[in-house]
Amino acid sequence: MDLMELCKAINSAAIAQLRARMRGELLLPADAGYEDARRIWNAAIDKRPALIARAGGVADVVAAVRFAREHGLPFAIRGGGHNVAGTALVDDGLVLDLSRLKGVRVDPAARTVRIAPGVTNGDLDHETQAFGLAITGGIASTTGVTGLTLGGGLGWLMRKHGLACDSLLSADVVTVGGECITASEHDHADLFWALRGGGGNFGVVTSLEYRVHPVGPTVVAGLVLHPAERAREVLRFYRDFVATTPDEVTTIVNLRHAPPAPWVPPHLHGRAVVALMACHAGPVDRALQDLQKLKQFGAPLLDILEPKPYALHQKMFDGAVPPGWRYCWKSHYLRALSDALIEALIEHAWRDASPRCYTLLFQMGGAVGRVAETATAFGNRDAPCGININAVWTEPGEDAQRIAWARDFFAATEPFSTGGVYVNFLGTEGEERIRAAYGANYERLARVKQRYDPDNFFRVNQNIAPPPRSAGG
Ligand SMILES: Cc1cc2nc3c(=O)[nH]c(=O)nc-3n(C[C@H](O)[C@H](O)[C@H](O)COP(=O)(O)OP(=O)(O)OC[C@H]3O[C@@H](n4cnc5c(N)ncnc54)[C@H](O)[C@@H]3O)c2cc1C
Repeated sequence: MDLMELCKAINSAAIAQLRARMRGELLLPADAGYEDARRIWNAAIDKRPALIARAGGVADVVAAVRFAREHGLPFAIRGGGHNVAGTALVDDGLVLDLSRLKGVRVDPAARTVRIAPGVTNGDLDHETQAFGLAITGGIASTTGVTGLTLGGGLGWLMRKHGLACDSLLSADVVTVGGECITASEHDHADLFWALRGGGGNFGVVTSLEYRVHPVGPTVVAGLVLHPAERAREVLRFYRDFVATTPDEVTTIVNLRHAPPAPWVPPHLHGRAVVALMACHAGPVDRALQDLQKLKQFGAPLLDILEPKPYALHQKMFDGAVPPGWRYCWKSHYLRALSDALIEALIEHAWRDASPRCYTLLFQMGGAVGRVAETATAFGNRDAPCGININAVWTEPGEDAQRIAWARDFFAATEPFSTGGVYVNFLGTEGEERIRAAYGANYERLARVKQRYDPDNFFRVNQNIAPPPRSAGG
């Protein structure tokens, strides 16, 4: 059945009824605004939902879940729309768009924050930083906090304050049956465990409550830029540097061509570079000491590792990853930054890459690694480092070439992989890779899935299938 036939088949009276039940907006393919509403960050994803329900509140979420179930429609959940695999959308189904639900309430005395599901990193930082507080957020301000947290949530504060999901205190969830429940250490503790890494598999999260931590508002953060010709010595120095960094320091290496960003002097635009990026979660004077070696090494092309508002640092890289470009990511965790791996990085990072492509090496460890592997669903906590190879381009005609670059590069780094991967960096890569994201936690996640979503209604995601009925309780 094509999309138009499908829309006709869903009785128009039923659609009118859903529309009447919603405080938000319901869009069909013929409606003005539909084309915009089906666009997400990654323009390489081109899906045509039958219905897009822009929720105005929790009641709309309940109505949308019930409607999709009644009519047997595939169901996708959209928050910030950043997932590279395009799981925010589904062909011929119902997309529940939560992006307009933006409330943030900080309780500075209790050091907690409660957010609605459409809040982005930038929205959250804006509110929490008014009180000198923060949780670990992703490195782009436009990413959705809910999708980020449900997968784990890596970012500049993680080695000091843990992953975003490690600060989660409770979550309100609309279940497959349209019930509203709260998951925390005390209530639905199995679901609370699964939500901290297990993604959107278990229900629609409509509110999240976090513990917040004192951060800044001024921190030392930014980057030191070196020429790619000196990548070997820079990366060897970096390996030694991160071996002794305190938890306050989180670093990310970025191998790319310098973007035409306002903070890059024009004469460096397009130059192949190694960016040693860092953020220090502690006071400025200590930060300057802890980061001194990073600033003093070699003769950098640019040093903008300096005191600045944390919220500003969080927006620094937004311009390099705008919505509407085409993206393909390949990622896994690495055992160590060995000499042989450094050679593979040098061979591939700048070869055949469009000037927009970039490769990130995330320094893990610290508070992330101190949480027990089975304490939350997030897997691979012992990994010291993660690589994310990001092909970025604008023209559909370049798809094959750019994707081939990412795949070849990924294959060259596979011998150095732990075998694990971060679920939020996965494309559409199949069950084996999803299992690799969870390791030992996968079977327990499947049991929680069976309890909360036995028919796999919430399957447009990095899917954890419930075990076959005969196999489980
Ligand atoms: C530019 C960029 C930078 C990034 N940087 C980082 C980073 O620094 N650290 C990091 O950890 N990740 C990072 N990511 C990855 C990011 O965490 C994932 O893409 C995440 O899925 C984004 O969430 P979203 O709500 O924006 O995405 P969406 O595409 O809207 O949602 C993705 C999935 O999350 C689930 N989901 C979202 N909201 C809900 C909800 N309310 N209830 C139930 N399920 C829900 C659904 O399964 C949905 O399919 C980055 C992504 C981009 C594009």
